[in-house]
Amino acid sequence: MKLVIFGPPSAGKGTQAQKLAEKYGLPQVATGDLLREHVAKKTPIGLKVKAYLDSGRLGPDDLIVQMISERVSKPDCKNGYILDGFPRTIGQARELEKMTDVDLVLNIVVDFEVLVERAVGRRICPRCAAVYHVKFNPPKQEGVCDKCGSALIQRDDDKETTVRNRLNVYQDQTAPLVEHYRTKGKLVDIDGSGGIDAVQAQMVRAIDRLKK
Ligand code: AMP
Repeated sequence: MKLVIFGPPSAGKGTQAQKLAEKYGLPQVATGDLLREHVAKKTPIGLKVKAYLDSGRLGPDDLIVQMISERVSKPDCKNGYILDGFPRTIGQARELEKMTDVDLVLNIVVDFEVLVERAVGRRICPRCAAVYHVKFNPPKQEGVCDKCGSALIQRDDDKETTVRNRLNVYQDQTAPLVEHYRTKGKLVDIDGSGGIDAVQAQMVRAIDRLKK
């Protein structure tokens, strides 16, 4: 089963993809995470994409496609995978179509102002990757990770100007893909305004319908 989790930045793609990955035993392939790993390790890809990530622009299609194609050829992807954050342009979608057929695109729909509030309040632990929110999921002690005691940080791309920029990029370059996949009959809209479990339940229903 090959799934794509679609939606604007901070819609909860990563959280949902991770839960689906556990439930269905499929690897989560998250371009943003892969790219951040490259940046942290200062690999050649990381050096090329750092400026894109920091400003919220999309990285070059050829480089992203190459990274994904290498990732999905690994043995753990042989029974399928969950793409999170890919494809994000029509060019990437066409390349993906050359690689494989996706079964289902789950499109998380959320109001942009809700997303700005979610992203700007997000804090992450640089050591253990735990995720918090200053309002919706605060740590016990302000600014400190409950799990490992490290000082929490705000991702550069969660700063407000960058978040708004990423939403504009989404609107211009990624939103047209929704109609592309809808026309193919592969897309299901998911109301992303509810809690994590409510959103997950809609996704599971859509996947289970597919399996019947
Ligand atoms: P994310 O964590 O998915 O929101 O991705 C963070 C950043 O990584 C984005 O703002 C882009 O700069 C870059 N990125 C992630 N996925 C892609 C993609 N499919 N194509 C181009 N750039 C991407």
